[in-house]
Amino acid sequence: MSILVVGSAAFDDIETPFGRAEHILGGSTIYFAAAASLFAPVNVVSVVGTDMPLDAYDFLKARGVDMRGLQVEDGKTFHWSGRYDYDLNQTETLVTDLNVYAGFRPSLPDGYADSPFVFLANIQPDLQRSVLEQARSPRLTMMDSMNLWIETQRDAVEAIMRMVDMVSINESEARLLMRTSSVLAAAKRILTLGPKAVLVKRGEYGAVLFTEDDYFAAPGYPLEEVYDPTGAGDSFAGGFMGYLAQAPEINGATLRQAVIHGSAVASFTVQAFGVERLKTLTRSEVEDRCREFQRFTSFGEV
Ligand code: AMP
Repeated sequence: MSILVVGSAAFDDIETPFGRAEHILGGSTIYFAAAASLFAPVNVVSVVGTDMPLDAYDFLKARGVDMRGLQVEDGKTFHWSGRYDYDLNQTETLVTDLNVYAGFRPSLPDGYADSPFVFLANIQPDLQRSVLEQARSPRLTMMDSMNLWIETQRDAVEAIMRMVDMVSINESEARLLMRTSSVLAAAKRILTLGPKAVLVKRGEYGAVLFTEDDYFAAPGYPLEEVYDPTGAGDSFAGGFMGYLAQAPEINGATLRQAVIHGSAVASFTVQAFGVERLKTLTRSEVEDRCREFQRFTSFGEV
């Protein structure tokens, strides 16, 4: 089943203790689509400026991603610049230039509105809302956000949370949003807004899925070298939702399997700068890593 995604398409400048990369492909939609397309068809809604090379997204098209919803507008592509120190869980945003996003009004190409799965990747909440309102009775909707929107448009972010089935959020952003130090308390408060599940991403420490009556924690995949954590959250969401989109049904077990698939995909993303590792990643490499997760998290009977 297909997945509709709206979010950013960007040029990123990234600095980590292991190197720098300038003007590389980024954006929440792009990481999500690269990951989700390993599992299911993806329909992209996004915007770039005329400075984006026409062949930049050939690697997504080669995976069958529908890019008809990527609009090209006069002006510059969204630009984000970020820095990480040795604690790669902490992102320092240096620059966010919305550029062509400032006046962007998404309109869905034919067939997109019937996508059964909808992911509202990180972008201005009014754009997320506009796409959600154009979708026709989706089966599962999920949203993501970040500190910039929580700090500047908190009410709008919460309003979208009330409209979706699932929320995916970083642990620091969950704390910021719900003004608490406890991730459990933050997730519970998000659940009271209406979503049926909250996926809290914890960087190298993994991810936790909270529902009203269940809790599932996946560790991070152990890596000695993480080159660039950018896109880990979006590719996690892509692996998670992509897995659900091809599962015969959505239940407690498939949700847990989806968390492991998201974790496995994200662990590959961070092993290279930008989207480079995702470009060559295969489904069978992801499945191999999922089996490793199974091995190192099982401890028999208790
Ligand atoms: P993450 O998965 O959270 O590491 O997402 C990284 C991507 O989000 C980068 O490629 C950025 O271009 C993009 N990004 C950063 N800030 C924003 C923002 N405020 N809105 C939308 N996308 C953003």
